[in-house]
Amino acid sequence: MFNIDMEGIDLEKTFDLIVLGGGPTAIGCAIYAARFAMDVLVIGKTFGGLIATTHIVENYPAITSISGQGLMDMFKDHMDSLNIPYISDEIRTIDKIDDHFELHSFFQNFKAYSICIATGSERRKLGVSGEEEFAGRGVSYCATCDGPFYKDKVVCVIGGSDSAAKEALFLAQNTQKVYIIYRGKEIRAEPINKQRVYENDKIEIINNTNIVEIKGDNTVNSVIFDNGQEFEVDGVFIEIGSDPNSDLAKRIGVETNDKGEIIINRKSETSIPGIFAAGDVADAPFKQAITGVSEGVIAAYSAFDYVKEMNIEY
Ligand SMILES: Cc1cc2nc3c(=O)[nH]c(=O)nc-3n(C[C@H](O)[C@H](O)[C@H](O)COP(=O)(O)OP(=O)(O)OC[C@H]3O[C@@H](n4cnc5c(N)ncnc54)[C@H](O)[C@@H]3O)c2cc1C
Repeated sequence: MFNIDMEGIDLEKTFDLIVLGGGPTAIGCAIYAARFAMDVLVIGKTFGGLIATTHIVENYPAITSISGQGLMDMFKDHMDSLNIPYISDEIRTIDKIDDHFELHSFFQNFKAYSICIATGSERRKLGVSGEEEFAGRGVSYCATCDGPFYKDKVVCVIGGSDSAAKEALFLAQNTQKVYIIYRGKEIRAEPINKQRVYENDKIEIINNTNIVEIKGDNTVNSVIFDNGQEFEVDGVFIEIGSDPNSDLAKRIGVETNDKGEIIINRKSETSIPGIFAAGDVADAPFKQAITGVSEGVIAAYSAFDYVKEMNIEY
């Protein structure tokens, strides 16, 4: 499952910093740590993170417009230029042993004096009948990945966020019709994307409506609204937010809020000294690539200070 290429990486040593995650936050943190001459290792379940699944990014400063994957390719180039080692693996538990941490995956143990948790979030499920049954057969959580299968079909996007609007705009390029189905009064997209949605003839918004069931035979045929109406669609794209990947942090006792987000301060410090967190997994109110990178960079500064204070003899 994982491409664990550990060639040339000394796994017996204790790293100054291990960064967990393969998204913009983790890589931003690692780039700064490497430039501080820290001995840094990045371990990510997948490379690219959530941003790599979006078709277009138009708000990353200095880059007018780029695909999410294209942006992360640039992060990868920058990381490679600094020879930062990356291992594709999933860390499942962390233990504190004396002055350092031990991190465990199914396959391997790693050691570090400090950690930055940048494990992002998981797409939220709608939790209705038919969602699980038709996952991959008409139910999707990623328009960029699955949109091309719906050429000239009728699809709906569930949700009212900026991400939902962007998914609808992407789907409208290829499909016959896109319905945005939103439980609130008015979608909450960025003004520019909201305007694009309103001006797009192929997109129609159905407000004040919840989906209670997804129906089909081999693939999806329809959804059922909370007023009982059956509505025909070929595909359902669910874009209703995400939940933080913080179980790992919770297990070692890092404090989280009622949403499960890791509580951090302005130095990206968590409740456990030596463990830092940043990006979508943390409790900052705004979750974008650039805000994650910023918190990740702050985590690198703080980890550098933390390790320096330890006066380690290498
Ligand atoms: C449809 C959509 C469109 C978006 N558009 C924009 C946009 O235009 N501009 C923008 O700035 N933001 C956008 N965002 C938000 C942006 O994607 C996120 O804010 C950003 O990806 C957060 O980065 P992150 O690195 O904190 O987390 P993520 O990108 O979620 O990365 C987390 C990483 O951690 C890894 N991981 C998880 N658990 C473990 C573990 N136990 N061990 C090791 N690794 C682990 C994951 O595999 C992943 O690589 C969009 C989001 C969506 C859904």
